Amino acid sequence: MGRAAQAYYAGRDPFGRGGDFTTAPEISQAFGECLGLWAAVTWQMMGAPAPVRLVELGPGRGTLMVDALRAVAEVMPAFRSAAEVHLIETSSALRAAQAARLPGAAWHERVEAVPAGPAILIANEFFDALPIRQFVRREGAWHERFVAGGGFVEQPAEAAPVLPEAAPDGAIHEVSEAGLAIARHLAGRLRVQGGAALILDYGPAGPGFGDSLQAMAAHGRADPLAEPGSVDITAHVRFPALAAAAREAGAATHGPLPMGLFLQRLGLMSRAAILARSNPRQAGLILSGAERLVAPEGMGRLFKALCLCHPGLAIPPGFEPA
Ligand code: SAH
Repeated sequence: MGRAAQAYYAGRDPFGRGGDFTTAPEISQAFGECLGLWAAVTWQMMGAPAPVRLVELGPGRGTLMVDALRAVAEVMPAFRSAAEVHLIETSSALRAAQAARLPGAAWHERVEAVPAGPAILIANEFFDALPIRQFVRREGAWHERFVAGGGFVEQPAEAAPVLPEAAPDGAIHEVSEAGLAIARHLAGRLRVQGGAALILDYGPAGPGFGDSLQAMAAHGRADPLAEPGSVDITAHVRFPALAAAAREAGAATHGPLPMGLFLQRLGLMSRAAILARSNPRQAGLILSGAERLVAPEGMGRLFKALCLCHPGLAIPPGFEPA
């Protein structure tokens, strides 16, 4: 799965109408703007350190960061001046797209390479692209699913992570070791050096079993095994496991919250209304795009927002208890 995802992103820009899928920053500029303001307020709560690393994991076309920086430059120029932009990207095609729009940024293959210091990190639809392992319960024991000869095979699980003690027969338990390792790294870094990380992605808010491996091509479902490397391959993000790993590594966590609620608390709909008023010809598109991000039947419920932060930081915007 990891190799297929790397091959997929390495040579293409998969986003938008002519591509395979669309993401929140490509749907509405208000998304990146609100996240930029989230970062700015969080920075103030951190005591306004300068410099501060502003890090994005898997920035795609760079749209979220472009929208965030534009909004921040207007509303909180001190944060814009303090922010040093670091982008974590393995795809050379997407790095080139990002470089054209974010000339002042620094690029890294891995988040571990970001220089030390207080940081604000954002990851939108990044963790879903990381490889998972699947374990299947068969007659009271865990087996692991592998791919062989173009299909799935099951073998008794060896060298497995800690697995649930009980599960109904046929249950599938998914683990993203790559995702957990990054969550642990972020948590350890935030605990020592300060800051916060915001993770937005799709997946359940609670624990549970199920096969969520999926592939997308041309905005429709595809067979994940048919053409590895030429279709988008992802899995649901297991938020409870990510949050638990981060807490074990010493960070505080807030959420996961439904993304629709989080974005509404940040004022996404008001921002969209302002944009619509100043672009009357596109008002319908602007409002329906924002609506898609918050509506439960759109992306508002399946997608979640999770924050990892320094344990001494006050609760960042949007995560206040209801
Ligand atoms: N955040 C963007 C793009 C999401 S697609 C958006 O919302 O539009 C996933 C992004 O993560 C792509 O930029 C992809 O190239 C990058 N990516 C995937 N796996 C990665 C890995 N292991 N390390 C770094 N970047 C990765």
